[in-house]
Amino acid sequence: MKLPVYLDHHSTTPLDPRVKEAMEASLENAFGNPSSGDHVYGRRTRELVEEAREKVAKIISASREEIIFTSGATEANNLAIKGLVEIYGEKGKHIITQTTEHKSVLEVFKFLKTKGFEVTLLNVGDDGRVCVEELKQAIREETILVSIMFANNEIGTLQPIKEIGEIARQKNIFFHVDASQAVGKLPINVRDLGIHLMSFSAHKFYGPKGVGALYVCKENPRVRIKPLIHGGGQEHGLRSGTLNVPGIVGFGKACELTEFEINMEAKKLEELRDQFLNLLKAEFEDLVVNGSMEHRLGYNLNVSFPEVEGERLIKELSEEVALSTGSACVTDQAEPSYVLKAIGTPEMLIHSSIRIGMGRFNTEEEIDFAAKKIISIVRRLKKESPFKQVAEEI
Ligand SMILES: *Cc1c(COP(=O)(O)O)cnc(C)c1O
Repeated sequence: MKLPVYLDHHSTTPLDPRVKEAMEASLENAFGNPSSGDHVYGRRTRELVEEAREKVAKIISASREEIIFTSGATEANNLAIKGLVEIYGEKGKHIITQTTEHKSVLEVFKFLKTKGFEVTLLNVGDDGRVCVEELKQAIREETILVSIMFANNEIGTLQPIKEIGEIARQKNIFFHVDASQAVGKLPINVRDLGIHLMSFSAHKFYGPKGVGALYVCKENPRVRIKPLIHGGGQEHGLRSGTLNVPGIVGFGKACELTEFEINMEAKKLEELRDQFLNLLKAEFEDLVVNGSMEHRLGYNLNVSFPEVEGERLIKELSEEVALSTGSACVTDQAEPSYVLKAIGTPEMLIHSSIRIGMGRFNTEEEIDFAAKKIISIVRRLKKESPFKQVAEEI
């Protein structure tokens, strides 16, 4: 067993060795610029890129022409939202999202507010989901876009994507989905779900960092967006710049791998997750599970240990188990999670929370080991807890 056991798969995943192999081959054989059609070096690289594009499109049931390669989901979210309102902003200036989105969506909406757009920020229930009725009420004549994530990166909550897609279709507005935590983990069919724009990222499912994609629906309706980056006109003019070839090849390989393994892997991870949760529950009666258990990613767990400081627990575990709270990944500061706040978790329990994310290479042995470590440290921290002492003195 390699220590520390990695249980932070929401922030990123390790590279699958098969992905690494494909990338290495491309580094060796494909140095040509995929835009150089005049010679065999360029054409060979172009072929590799287009094969990868086919694989990426396939796992979301899109077509090749609907995939724009980007540097990741942050860029894809920016391109989708800013690119869309740039074109359709003349039709209306009202846009909708919700409180537990990733910062790369929330900050874009905040920015657009300064550009004269009106923003509705939907609340979520204590299960972490938006209320479809509330969304319906929020839509007006001037609404052009609703952006709702597929699955939350802290509490794993799955949003009612199909229902929202249906509403968007009825009301004739565009629907963008940040699916960074869901692609490669769940089967997704963008057409069945009524999604017009969808962002995702290779490094969240065993591909390399620094590459992702935006799906842009080309038919029924043909969605138009403006580029953020102008230049040589690559990616249908929507994302100029020489392509990240090894990254794209790795991205394609990562997609290909999940295509065959997705259902089995999801089931295995859910079992590991439940095994983990049962071990913790058996030990701590007061354990609190944050977010819906029913509508949840199978590899996510987010729990609070009353009287224990989450940050301290993570620090003390760090030689043996690699975990995070899930909320501090941006700045490394222990800011209380806005996601847990949004689902109504009391401040004390927010500070007592940790996020656990299982992945492809975790074994049962590792999960057992991690649970036992957590249990022994939590036990000790509970004894030492200043909150406990206060309670006893009273
Ligand atoms: C990781 C993540 C992002 C950002 O993806 P990058 O490719 O790292 O820019 C966006 N949204 C969600 C939900 C994520 O989990």
